[in-house]
Amino acid sequence: MELCIDFGGTEIKIALTDGSHVVGSRSIPVEGTPTDLDKAAAHARALLDQTGRAADAVGIAVPGVVDPRSDRMLHANAKYDFLEDIDLHAWAHTEFDLPSVVENDARAALIGETSSGSAAGERDAVLVTLGTGIGTAAMIDGSPLRGRTGHAGILGGHLTVDIDGPTCPCGNIGCGEALASTRALPEHVSMTQVFTTDAHPDLRDRFLHVWGAVVTSLVHSYDPAVVILSGGILRAGDAVSAPIEDFVREHLWPSLTPPHFVVPPEPELSVVRGLSTLIHTTHTATTHTAIPQEEQ
Ligand SMILES: [Zn+2]
Repeated sequence: MELCIDFGGTEIKIALTDGSHVVGSRSIPVEGTPTDLDKAAAHARALLDQTGRAADAVGIAVPGVVDPRSDRMLHANAKYDFLEDIDLHAWAHTEFDLPSVVENDARAALIGETSSGSAAGERDAVLVTLGTGIGTAAMIDGSPLRGRTGHAGILGGHLTVDIDGPTCPCGNIGCGEALASTRALPEHVSMTQVFTTDAHPDLRDRFLHVWGAVVTSLVHSYDPAVVILSGGILRAGDAVSAPIEDFVREHLWPSLTPPHFVVPPEPELSVVRGLSTLIHTTHTATTHTAIPQEEQ
């Protein structure tokens, strides 16, 4: 059994899983203070009590860059900047007396979708989550890309789309995320309005072109067999996914075989499925330092 904790943008999701099966779950709102950790631990213990089950390990997903050498966060999204000072392995050991794995949330979602979700069995895949920002992750030949310091594959939202575009909070210019995400919307306009009504056709077309350009660059970079499009706005159905796919097909390098596009039917399970998979992978890996020797 795996205890999975996903520190998401608006809520912290806690789930007890048995492989890809979710035994129980609960969510709590994010406050953006260190008390979030205390609340997550309390609700996790309550979930264990409620289900009467015991977990073997803890999986933690965070919205930020995780150094694969230390599993410490090198950079967290603003709401979670307090996590940068915290050793989450030590926290999990103190709170639950269990070993743990820590992973970037988009990478965990990609691992979840390729292990038991909408792209199960795929070994070359890219995941793009559209929402408040643009989250991405990439897998090549079955290995999720992490790179030297954990940044590989997850900065797709910060590919430059327009060299004359606005400065992004990240410091770069004209990032896809600065041009087409919730934070790029005019005041009093929601993503749902843009994609489910005809009130903002120019904005809709611009966002779709930016997302198409981002996904095209990711396909050029990683040559995936499948692109997983996720995020709440994908619930608008083909209004979002079909134009992105058309843009990619139209602008792809001539000899590249266009990837297959999927939209996960259960996106709320992507991250917990990935954490569960990571725990099982880590338990069988002898080189990982996250699990104390006596636990292996
Ligand atoms: Zn940026």
